[in-house]
Amino acid sequence: MTEDDPTVPIICEECGTETRVPLETLADTLERHNDNRHDGEQVAQVDPDIADRIADLVADDLGLLEDAE
Ligand SMILES: [Zn+2]
Repeated sequence: MTEDDPTVPIICEECGTETRVPLETLADTLERHNDNRHDGEQVAQVDPDIADRIADLVADDLGLLEDAE
């Protein structure tokens, strides 16, 4: 695992699962899991330990996009 690894761990305590997904499909994967398994409730979540780091990654991506325009 490296600093550049773009996958993000999703943890679902109710299912007892942890899944790594690419950052770009994170929102879709979370929504699909919660819709299919939990009737739309926000049960599955990004690992809180790295949620802050993901926010930084997203901020960096947005910064790059803004620079491109
Ligand atoms: Zn679940």
